Amino acid sequence: MDVFSTRKKEVRVPATLAVLEGISSDGGLFVPDYFPRLNADMMLPLVREGYQATAAEILSLFFDIGTETLRTLTKEAYASFDTDEVVPLKQLGEREYVMELFHGPTLAFKDLALQVLPRLLKLALVEQGQKEDVLVLAATSGDTGKAAMEGFRDVDRTFIYVFYPQDGVADLQKLQMVTQQGKNVGVCAVQGNFDDAQTGVKELFGDPEFNKWAKKHNFTLSSANSINIGRLIPQIAYYAYTYGKLVMDGKVKSGVPVNFVVPTGNFGNILAAYYAKKMGTPIKKLICASNRNNVLTDFFQHGVYDSHREFFKTMSPSMDILISSNLERLLFEIASRDSQIVCGWMDALRIRGSYEVPARFRKILTEDFYADYCTEEETADAIKRTFEKHGYLMDPHTAVAQAVYEKYVQSTDDETLSVVVSTAHPFKFTQDVLAAVTGERVENPFEAADKLSGVTGVPVPPQIGELMELPVLHRGGVAKHQLKNAVENFVRGE
Ligand SMILES: *Cc1c(COP(=O)(O)O)cnc(C)c1O
Repeated sequence: MDVFSTRKKEVRVPATLAVLEGISSDGGLFVPDYFPRLNADMMLPLVREGYQATAAEILSLFFDIGTETLRTLTKEAYASFDTDEVVPLKQLGEREYVMELFHGPTLAFKDLALQVLPRLLKLALVEQGQKEDVLVLAATSGDTGKAAMEGFRDVDRTFIYVFYPQDGVADLQKLQMVTQQGKNVGVCAVQGNFDDAQTGVKELFGDPEFNKWAKKHNFTLSSANSINIGRLIPQIAYYAYTYGKLVMDGKVKSGVPVNFVVPTGNFGNILAAYYAKKMGTPIKKLICASNRNNVLTDFFQHGVYDSHREFFKTMSPSMDILISSNLERLLFEIASRDSQIVCGWMDALRIRGSYEVPARFRKILTEDFYADYCTEEETADAIKRTFEKHGYLMDPHTAVAQAVYEKYVQSTDDETLSVVVSTAHPFKFTQDVLAAVTGERVENPFEAADKLSGVTGVPVPPQIGELMELPVLHRGGVAKHQLKNAVENFVRGE
């Protein structure tokens, strides 16, 4: 399939090439030419076969790569997960389920796509006959960085460099990154928040000097952020798969819609859910859950996106974002795929920090979505209550979704079966989860992990335990306008 830019429809490239390019040269994001249809006849046999088969089929609808090759790819990509189910579904209440997306090597949902992306990229290099190596850049709010480095680690012909906000990630997220091994990986702290890191990386992609430099060093630049369509497409699979599983297990009648509740930051995960819906997965509401950084809540409720507001650091740091990149892809759909209109809104965002979507464009926003947010107290309370009521331990991001789901049910009385999307393992955020459950604050994350495990009976995942022993390999930091120097030093091996 071809994809094209949200800002310039004439820019059309095959989806495999878009994976290499990451972002379109006009600054727009690549979007699919059309939404292929998924139907029950096709989905149920795949779901019966397993997650890997389902994911391969969905990839094959977008990428011109043979199904057998893709089946091998997904089999390899998900082999490192700690369960064959890949995305287990747990029932919490009569009408509430949790879809667990944290069973990959780095304990966050980012693994679902970032174990696939490097493999897609390698195939794309061959298919496109590309001679240059790939230099992948990424900004991270905590989980993308680790998952991307783990995915690209020692992959031939690729190098990856990651920027994270110096004081904006959880202790264990940071430790996971600075202990990353692999001869082609690098990571660096930025003096700023996630938006500074993401804007800085996006600027590098658009910087002619930097592009010249990359060419001279025989690199193609690419992105591991969810602006890369190679990250978005693999994420569609778990929505379609989980719906199929609910049907197969007799929990819902085929064709009857369900809700998904998604803890949202950069709008990549929930956008994949929207794509799944466009492709025919029966979904009623996509519930967009935010923490105190509730720019999206205001947008869905009032049609005004205003990034000029106070930035809060929360216990769900991977959602501490004021500029949600992937929203641009939804804007493209609500503007009936008119790139002129999208350009207008994006220019306003760049120049004034805000834009307003006129009422006539808001139908999708109110019909397909519901948005709300919760405070830090409500997040901690959701962790505690869910554990006490169901014996189920949630990480703070998932707890934001849980709290917002409860508000949604209260204000709408909607009895539709709902799936809360769990995006991280609770032990990635041990101190906050322990404090929520017991009221006790333990600063050392490993001590907190032991305590939490003792109290809840949930074992400490090996990926967390081993961090205590691993040497710190990456210590660099840069000012927010110096990203270029950091990348150049990395390539020079300094
Ligand atoms: C990245 C992340 C999110 C936000 O996902 P987006 O696709 O950026 O909206 C939520 N929770 C966790 C744990 C994450 O790592």
